[in-house]
Amino acid sequence: EIIMEARDVVHQYPDGTRALNNITLSLEKGKKIAFLGPNGAGKSTLFLHFNGILKPARGKIIFRGREIRYDHSSLTELRKNVGIVFQDPEIQLFSASVYQEISFGPLNMGLSREEVRRRVDRAMEITGVTGLKNKATHYLSYGQKKRVSIADILAMNPQVIIFDEPTSGLDPKLTGQIMELFDGFSREGKTVILSTHDVNAAYSWADHVIVIKDGSVAGEGEPEDIFQDD
Ligand code: ADP
Ligand code: ADP
Repeated sequence: EIIMEARDVVHQYPDGTRALNNITLSLEKGKKIAFLGPNGAGKSTLFLHFNGILKPARGKIIFRGREIRYDHSSLTELRKNVGIVFQDPEIQLFSASVYQEISFGPLNMGLSREEVRRRVDRAMEITGVTGLKNKATHYLSYGQKKRVSIADILAMNPQVIIFDEPTSGLDPKLTGQIMELFDGFSREGKTVILSTHDVNAAYSWADHVIVIKDGSVAGEGEPEDIFQDD
């Protein structure tokens, strides 16, 4: 079952940079998918199309068989289903305390106080930040911020979770813990998408690898197929 598709997607930034050049791809529901490619290849730009933050200049994005629409209510609905954890947690975290930060999304979804509390508690537990609940996000370490930014998205309970370079800047131990966390999401049936430069991480973790270069798909397949001629 295909959950997300891009068809002939072209994206050009206002300054003229053509970040995506006719990207066509299909992502299968429930899989672990790694986007591999050098800096500037277009991975982040593509991810921002998957939840409608960016709109393609040409082509279309299709979620669960329907072309994304860009009106306010369609986008709100889409973002309940497709969550992005940004590379830099600083740009994602804006609330005073960890608890407030993680509850912001679920509160905005109009859930009851009780359901919000249940989701936030679970997200904090899974990401290991329960002990930081009342701390100011501003004073957290980088790794703690990273965990809170993951809990943020988790509390929304999206079907598709996208991580932009989730382990960049983290030590190997935390990297291992975060990759395990992602395996847990996958076991719950969520589609987990991440970008990385780390060929080994992509190889050992992913069900499917897509290599992006210069705004195009340079190759894709199961890890064994992609790397066999290395
Ligand atoms: P560079 O070394 O300049 O990054 P490469 O062509 O070696 O250029 O690799 C570009 C990206 O593609 C890297 O992320 C690399 O790990 C990945 N890659 C590795 N093996 C393959 C392969 N067999 N086919 C396509 N891409 C690959
Ligand atoms: P990646 O995530 O693979 O590192 P990006 O999607 O961030 O790649 O970038 C793709 C290309 O678009 C790069 O050439 C980058 O410099 C450019 N780019 C990214 N964001 C912007 C922006 N806001 N304005 C102009 N160009 C941008």
